[in-house]
Amino acid sequence: SGMISVSDLANKMAIKSSEVIKNMMNIGIIGTINHILDQDTAQLIAEEMGHKVILQRENVLEEMIMKDRDLGNNISILRAPVVTIMGHVDHGKTSLLDHIRSTKTAFYEAGGITQNIGAYHVKTDLGSITFLDTPGHSAFTAMRSRGVKITDIVVLVVAADDGVMPQTIEAIQHAQAANVPVIVAINKIDKIDSDADKVKNDLMKYNILSEEWGGDNIFVPISAKTGKGIDKLLNVILLQAEILELKAVPTGMAEGVVIESFLDKGRGPIATVLVQKGNLNKGDIILCGFEYGRIKSLRNQSGDEVLSAGPSIPVEILGLSKVPFSGDIVTVVRNEKKAREVASYRKEKSRESKLLKQNKINLDNMFDNI
Ligand code: GDP
Ligand code: MG
Repeated sequence: SGMISVSDLANKMAIKSSEVIKNMMNIGIIGTINHILDQDTAQLIAEEMGHKVILQRENVLEEMIMKDRDLGNNISILRAPVVTIMGHVDHGKTSLLDHIRSTKTAFYEAGGITQNIGAYHVKTDLGSITFLDTPGHSAFTAMRSRGVKITDIVVLVVAADDGVMPQTIEAIQHAQAANVPVIVAINKIDKIDSDADKVKNDLMKYNILSEEWGGDNIFVPISAKTGKGIDKLLNVILLQAEILELKAVPTGMAEGVVIESFLDKGRGPIATVLVQKGNLNKGDIILCGFEYGRIKSLRNQSGDEVLSAGPSIPVEILGLSKVPFSGDIVTVVRNEKKAREVASYRKEKSRESKLLKQNKINLDNMFDNI
């Protein structure tokens, strides 16, 4: 460790190698871009050139604090499926969620406004389900860019009076690329011009095929307006979950993902976190993308303060240094000071790679002009 080539050092400072070579000469070192510098020399040169040096050791620190986590007793138990509702605009996604929320959960209302934390844990007679209320596509974008799996099942809402539309197809593509099973809710069957068979036929083209036709997809006709078929839909989701055998270790230091986040003027940065593993507690120290903090309070979807949350449970947390991004991974660690160091290292790293990219683009332009 502690060695770096002239060209790598130049890259890190986003300057030309010749600049570094010039500064090397100032302190009596002659070498080309392939010349290898030891850490002290590289640091000296960089600081001479007005750069702040952040040593790789934080990378080691990150590994260290991750290794130092208590991962629980390793016994995994069944957890609730995490479901994203997707589909074309106006096909009834919000109406479906509203219907489920109003019939299956008690919600905190402040001055008549229902608290919205972006995810809902719903209890039915046959089991629990967690619905994500993020615009479905962003959950998938986050999944892809961070390599985390957020959604277990997609409910594809298709209005029976309108049929397969561009965002229907887009949703199918997202689900298929992420290898997430799709349950089709054929909505608005209360309307006289609804045609469920046409929807079934049209979806065949996109490899969404009902079981009776030899496919893997279950179709449930519903009306988000009258509530017809919604209990059946919930049961089908739970059946699908059973097949998936969704499990998680419910003990030990938690891991999760940020579903939503915002800055509250009075309370500070707020994030809705979906716990995926372990147990998230009040007082826990978390690392969360570029941010860190100690959890000051957790609130459930009803707005009640809770002391902890386990797998598949969404909670709103308070206590982060700044607002994190949705899709950021949340990890509980032991040491707040180290968490802060790792967070600032990650920030620095990302700034560096952005600079590198910019520089590369400038170089590309330069060659275009020749
Ligand atoms: P979203 O854009 O997918 O969230 O769709 P919305 O839930 O906002 O619904 C769009 C419109 O369709 C609204 O006017 C709803 O009242 C209406 N709608 C939704 N579901 C049904 C249904 O099952 N039957 C009827 N008749 N109208 C519905
Ligand atoms: Mg909507």
